[in-house]
Amino acid sequence: MDSHVSHWVDGAPWAGAGSGSAEVYDPASGSVARTVALASESDVQVAVASARHASEAWSRTSLTARTRVLFAFRQLLEERKHELAAIITAEHGKVLSDALGEVTRGLEVVEFACGIPQLLKGGYSEAVSTGVDVHSVRQPLGVVGVISPFNFPAMVPMWFFPVAIAAGNAVILKPSEKDPSAAIWIARLWQEAGLPDGVFTVLQGDRVAVDGLLDHPDVRAISFVGSTPVARYVYERGTTNGKRVQALGGAKNHMVVLPDADLDLAADGAVNAGFGSAGERCMAISVVVAVDPVGDELVDRITKRISSITVGDGRSADSDMGPLVTGAHRDRVASYVDGAERDGALLVVDGRDAVVPEQPDGFWLGPTLVDHVRPEMTVYRDEVFGPVLSVVRVPTYDAALELVNRNPYGNGTAIYTNDGGAARRYQSEVEVGMVGVNVPIPVPMAYYSFGGWKSSLFGDTHAHGAEGVHFFTRGKVVTSRWPDPEHGGLNLGFPRND
Ligand code: NAD
Repeated sequence: MDSHVSHWVDGAPWAGAGSGSAEVYDPASGSVARTVALASESDVQVAVASARHASEAWSRTSLTARTRVLFAFRQLLEERKHELAAIITAEHGKVLSDALGEVTRGLEVVEFACGIPQLLKGGYSEAVSTGVDVHSVRQPLGVVGVISPFNFPAMVPMWFFPVAIAAGNAVILKPSEKDPSAAIWIARLWQEAGLPDGVFTVLQGDRVAVDGLLDHPDVRAISFVGSTPVARYVYERGTTNGKRVQALGGAKNHMVVLPDADLDLAADGAVNAGFGSAGERCMAISVVVAVDPVGDELVDRITKRISSITVGDGRSADSDMGPLVTGAHRDRVASYVDGAERDGALLVVDGRDAVVPEQPDGFWLGPTLVDHVRPEMTVYRDEVFGPVLSVVRVPTYDAALELVNRNPYGNGTAIYTNDGGAARRYQSEVEVGMVGVNVPIPVPMAYYSFGGWKSSLFGDTHAHGAEGVHFFTRGKVVTSRWPDPEHGGLNLGFPRND
C-alpha cells in the first residue's frame, strides 16, 4: 500500500492541486500509516470533466460490451478478494474474516449487475392506435457520485457503482478519508477488467469534495451513505441543486426477544450482531429489548458469551474483534459508557479497560454490556456505533413494538420468537425498512433493495436491486408511426387512440 493515497482520474493516480492531506491510521497499532489527498474545488472540476467525457462514449457502448467488462471485473474480484480484505483490515481494523465477508456481499451486487441486459429491458405495445406503436427504454443519467462511510470501504461503494456503471453511467467515488486505499485498489481492478478510463473515478477528500459534487451541474445523482446529520445535509443540498439523491443515514437497531424465543439462538445473535466489526456496522444490533420475564436469563447468556471474545489485531486469526477506527471515535464511544453509568444503568461488562499488551497504543474498546437502560439515557438515544450493547426491559410485546416504532431511526430490526403469529405481526407492524425473524442482521440480498426508513434514509429509493437500477436510469417512452398510404391525412383534432 502506498504511503500517500492519491485520487484516481482518467485511469491513473492523480495528485490534484489539493487543499492538503489527512492522516490515515493503522488502528491496531495506533500509528499514522499513510496520508490521503484532500481534493480542492478545482480538483472536483477536473474529476467531473474527465468523468463526463468518459460517460458520453460509455453510455453508447453496447450492452454486450458493457456486460463483458462487468463479468471480467467480477472474475478478478473473486480471484483477488483476499488482497482487498487485507487492505480493509489494515485501515478499518475489522478482522480479516469479516473484511472478506464485506467483499463477498459487495461481489453479490457485481453479480447482480452482470444481469443488466435483462434488467434494462423495456416494454413494447404494438398498435396502441392504428399504425402506432409505443416502447419504453431506460437510459443512463451521465455522471453520478457515490459518497461512502468508513465502516464498509468496499461493500457500501459496491452497493452502487456496479449497477451505475452497468447501466451506462460514469461514477465518481468519494470514499471516507479514514480508509481511502480500498477505492484505489478497486479502480485499478476496473482498469484491468477493461473499463475505459474515466468511467470510474476516485476523488479523495472531505467536505470540500462532497460540496463540490453536490453543487456541480454535471453530476446528476448522488448516492450517499453515512451519519444522519450529514445524510440530511447531502439530501437537502443535492435536491436543491436539482439532483436525484438517495442518502442513507445512521441507525439504532433493536432486537426484540420474546419469552418463547430460543435463548441460545438469541444470545448468539445479540453477541454476533452487537460486537462484530466492533459494533461499527449500520446493521449492528445496539439495543436488545427483553420482554418479561426473559431479561435475567438472556443477560446471563450474553455475558457468558462475551467472556470468550478475543480482542486484538484484525490481522491475527486469533482475534474475534478488532480495534475502533480512530482514537477519537474510541473515546467518543467510551464516553457513552461513562454516561450510561452516570445515568444509573447497570454496567454488566465494561470494555473500557481492554488492553492488548503487544499493541498498547491501538484504539481498543472491549465488548460492553449495559443492562436496565432506559429510553431517556443518551446511550439509548444516540447512535453509539461501537461495541456497546444496551438491554432495555419491557413488560409486553406491545411495549416492545412501541419502543421500536418511537425511535427516530428505522434501518434494521430483528425479532426472536418461536411463535409464527407474533413474528408475522411484528414484520407487519414495525416501522423499519429491514426486518429479521430469528436473523440478527437482515441485510437483503443484492436482488432485493437495501434501505431503512425514517431518519435512516432520505429520498425514496433504496440501494441495489430493482430500485438501484431505477435510480441510475431515467425512463423514456417513444410513440411511433410509420406512415402508409392510409395514414388519415390532415386532422387537427386531439389523437383519440382508436
Ligand atoms: P460520516 O457521516 O462522518 O461520513 C460519511 C461521508 O461523508 C464520508 O465520505 C465523509 O468524508 C463525508 N462527510 C463527513 N462529514 C461531512 C460534512 N460535514 N459534510 C459533507 N460530507 C461529510 O459517517 P462515517 O462516520 O464515515 O460512517 C458511519 C456512519 O455511517 C454511521 O452513522 C452509520 O450508521 C452510517 N452508515 C449507514 C449505513 C446505512 O446503510 N444506512 C451503512 C453504513 C454506514
